[in-house]
Amino acid sequence: MGTPFPKPALELVIAAPRGFCAGVDRAIRIVELAIEKHGSPVFVRHEIVHNKFVVDALKAKGAVFVEELDEVPDDAPVVFSAHGVPKSVPMNAQERGLDYLDATCPLVSKVHRQAERLVASGRHIVFIGHAGHPEVIGTFGQVPAGDMSLVETVADVEAFAPADPDNLAFLTQTTLSVDDTAQVVAALQRRFPTIQGPRGEDICYATSNRQAAVKAIAAECDAMLVIGAPNSSNSVRLVEVAEREGTPALLIQRANELDWTFLHGVGTLGITAGASAPELLVRELVDRLSLRFDVTEREVEIGRETIAFKLPRGLDAAA
Ligand code: SF4
Repeated sequence: MGTPFPKPALELVIAAPRGFCAGVDRAIRIVELAIEKHGSPVFVRHEIVHNKFVVDALKAKGAVFVEELDEVPDDAPVVFSAHGVPKSVPMNAQERGLDYLDATCPLVSKVHRQAERLVASGRHIVFIGHAGHPEVIGTFGQVPAGDMSLVETVADVEAFAPADPDNLAFLTQTTLSVDDTAQVVAALQRRFPTIQGPRGEDICYATSNRQAAVKAIAAECDAMLVIGAPNSSNSVRLVEVAEREGTPALLIQRANELDWTFLHGVGTLGITAGASAPELLVRELVDRLSLRFDVTEREVEIGRETIAFKLPRGLDAAA
């Protein structure tokens, strides 16, 4: 019998911060506590966070996921997802006497309140975001139709023809690319010098930190794997950030999706996870890589996150 071939060496450079943010943590906890309090089933409108593993784990505990409120029976509790909902959703829930909990991330709610204030002060809002994303639908649903316009790109800004160009304000989705958004904001400020905006932009701390952590390691990596769902905006942005640094990057939901050919010629592999992906999936990936490679791990941490959000009233006592 010959000696087995040694496994090839693979250095893993793991970005930090990565994975769960405070808003995702809170949203999942809200569903878990609602199940503890009310028993099963607890209905959840839309995926609570964009991660199949998280959704499946909550289903196993007694959560039932639906897309619209009319799928929720009259006597059942319902939770609204972390992405936020249009005002009409809690209004409908109230009209039906439903027992509802709002798991909207407080940083998304903050943008909702800004939108209301700006419209009340007579400004038309230019919202920078991705068409069709639930957060965008939720934020548009805070103000009357016609008071907010969506732009996604600099080209959209160039084509934008507002009725009153001197009476504009802008807001942004929380999970955008920091670099792309800076360009769109610059284009808005160039075309509409009197436009009002938030002091920075509304991209949240978790989105910015995860992008900065990828930037910090991308140059030293031959390739990068991002754990996250294809409908998770902040995860997709992490792939783009790595690619912009010249590092090929692949989004995978779980280790078993990994196409091994992606690792041909890779000696140093970067790993990160989007804000809705649990750390367990990072460990699962490392374990899978260890089957084929002689793996060494190194974490590069660009800063520590200490933010935690309070639970809604009524559930905090149960926590
Ligand atoms: S990514 Fe940001 S805005 Fe979204 S849930 Fe997490 S902290 Fe909140």
